[in-house]
Amino acid sequence: MELSYRDITYCKNVGAKRADILRKELGVNTALDMLRQYPYKYIDRSRFYKIAELEDEDTYVQIVGEVTEWHTIGIGKSQRLSATFNDGTHQCELVWFQGVKYVKLQRGVKYLLFGKPSRFNHLFNFVHPELTPWNKVTSEMTQGLEPYYNTTETMKKHGLNSKVIRSIVAELLPDLKMGVPDTIGADVLQKYRLMSLSEALVNVHFPKDTLAMQNARARLKFEELFYVQLQILRQMKRREQYPGFAMPIVGSRFHALYRSLPFELTGAQKRVIHEIHDDLKSGHQMNRLLQGDVGSGKTLVALLCCLLAVDNGYQACIMAPTEILANQHYETLKAFLAPLNNVQSNDVQGTKDSHVSIALLTGSTTAKNRVPIHNGLMNGTIHILIGTHALLEDAVQWQNLGFVVIDEQHRFGVAQRAKLWTKNQLPPHILVMTATPIPRTLAMTVYGDLQVSIIDELPPGRKPVQTIHYDIKRRAQVYSFMKNQIEAGRQIYVVYPLIKENEKMDLMDLENGFNELCEALPGYKISMVHGQMKAADKDLQMQRFASGETQILVATTVIEVGVNVPNATVMMIQNAERFGLSQLHQLRGRVGRGGNQSYCILLTDNEISADTRKRMNIMVETNDGFRIAEADLQLRGPGDMQGTLQSGTPFELHIANLATDGRMVALTREAAKEILDKDPLLEDEMNRIYKRQLDILRVTQSYNWGEIS
Ligand code: ADP
Ligand code: MG
Repeated sequence: MELSYRDITYCKNVGAKRADILRKELGVNTALDMLRQYPYKYIDRSRFYKIAELEDEDTYVQIVGEVTEWHTIGIGKSQRLSATFNDGTHQCELVWFQGVKYVKLQRGVKYLLFGKPSRFNHLFNFVHPELTPWNKVTSEMTQGLEPYYNTTETMKKHGLNSKVIRSIVAELLPDLKMGVPDTIGADVLQKYRLMSLSEALVNVHFPKDTLAMQNARARLKFEELFYVQLQILRQMKRREQYPGFAMPIVGSRFHALYRSLPFELTGAQKRVIHEIHDDLKSGHQMNRLLQGDVGSGKTLVALLCCLLAVDNGYQACIMAPTEILANQHYETLKAFLAPLNNVQSNDVQGTKDSHVSIALLTGSTTAKNRVPIHNGLMNGTIHILIGTHALLEDAVQWQNLGFVVIDEQHRFGVAQRAKLWTKNQLPPHILVMTATPIPRTLAMTVYGDLQVSIIDELPPGRKPVQTIHYDIKRRAQVYSFMKNQIEAGRQIYVVYPLIKENEKMDLMDLENGFNELCEALPGYKISMVHGQMKAADKDLQMQRFASGETQILVATTVIEVGVNVPNATVMMIQNAERFGLSQLHQLRGRVGRGGNQSYCILLTDNEISADTRKRMNIMVETNDGFRIAEADLQLRGPGDMQGTLQSGTPFELHIANLATDGRMVALTREAAKEILDKDPLLEDEMNRIYKRQLDILRVTQSYNWGEIS
């Protein structure tokens, strides 16, 4: 029977009880599912070490030698057994804390020692090693790489440890050698020099050598990423066929705003607006990602594009992740649009057909205030709505929504994006803006279904922010620096980390910090904002800082996104070691927005890990968001972007890693593209396997990517 149909219950070494656990804990239902549980590491059992050459701790080694001496220490439960092991080059200590009475040692007998050494007083020791008399050592035990499998607590409790998994898998190998249907076509296997599926499955579990193991893993990674790309690109191709609202006109409002700007758009801003306008003219729905570092002027680009839509008779909305940011966008847009709306003034730009009406809708908009907004959207008198998630609510209905901007996308689930589709007969054009530059690998997977525009130029005259890393011992120096800046008329952000699990503690940190600042910088006014404040209080505090009434803003990361106070020149980050690189970069982007030299001060504990030091050094060295994003991915893995990944990859990854397999991502995208270019719907006989496998993946992974924008 094909392995994918064989119930795991009837596989050797399994049985009903273990099958039940495997199903519940790992989702393993069939023999093939079992084979798809890949080892997370291997230990080389063909290699023998000498004690004298041991260097590393924490990697398993095997050594041949004799036990020369042993003794027990203590009594009863706390008894332990200590032995001396000698291999002719040197000696080491073996220790048992448990099951001491079962350990039988003999002098003058050759043993195979297997275990993980740790160093103690220049001597290596092994805790609970495996010790096998040499005459009992089988050739299997010392052959090639031994696989190790992840297990859960429940599995362990029922004796389903790595060793048992290994034995279950080993029993399936002979069947595998007879072949399983491949999931990748022969032509692709050949072109990319990949192993067949059955060969890869044999060698991922029991490789004959390191090279075979690496090739097997490469093939399986390729398969995983290939299907991700196939799914994304197929979806994208399908969508490119969808009709969308045509917006060919560049009209009076767009021109009026353009003329009223006190500065020239940067080359990058102009290019991006052209790219977007080309999409709007095309008659197909746009799905575009706009990337640009903090301060690169994305908001203005978004507004100009909204006006393109309004000039063509459509409504637009801008959706922000937080209320603070929505408010801020609203104020910014109102200021930009003032010359257009101020018809009474002598300003010739303001005419009736350049009038733009905007509204703000957030969670704290009262029921009473919602009524005119709902009406205005229905009868078309509101052109642009700015808001938070609130604008996804069913009650929000439009006369003619045609253009949607989603700011700081990584906080919105992909599913939420999809909700916007239902707001008009045709899906609106969608522009996703992110200030977190996305490494190429991620852009090709997580955002792989979007066209990409990049603003890679800052408005002229910006001085790069200077970044300094201090440890807390030099706090006094930092305070006196802050004082000088305030005396010179500048303003300062002080940010504290906030970790959700420990909000109380963090709040205390924040309050202590606030008091400390009051003491260190007497006579200045301080605002404070944090996540647990009411929106209205937050706004008031932010407003006081924005207007210059307070000199210092003490905050948790609520200010991370979007806030714009050009007079602020110092961003001081407390416990910087608790922030990820991308977050630090975002925070730093809050300063350096005016003409004055700005500074970012990273304050850390005086004892920090090597990893933290690396992060701080990168921050000090570069202001380039893309470099920082790459470094972040390398240092922390995609974990930091977990939210993005979960809402972004169509299928879960088990063996491929977006942080380290970037080259593979590019290869698989190319391979998938080549197939879809010839056969977009995968209808050819030779592409049947791809269609079938995509269906299987969609069913087993239950994530309905197909319905999502
Ligand atoms: P982002 O949203 O990309 O972080 P913003 O849109 O907040 O950046 O822009 C930062 C600041 O730069 C704003 O005050 C904005 O008015 C200003 N700005 C935008 N474009 C230009 C430009 N071409 N020249 C000068 N200033 C600009
Ligand atoms: Mg912004």
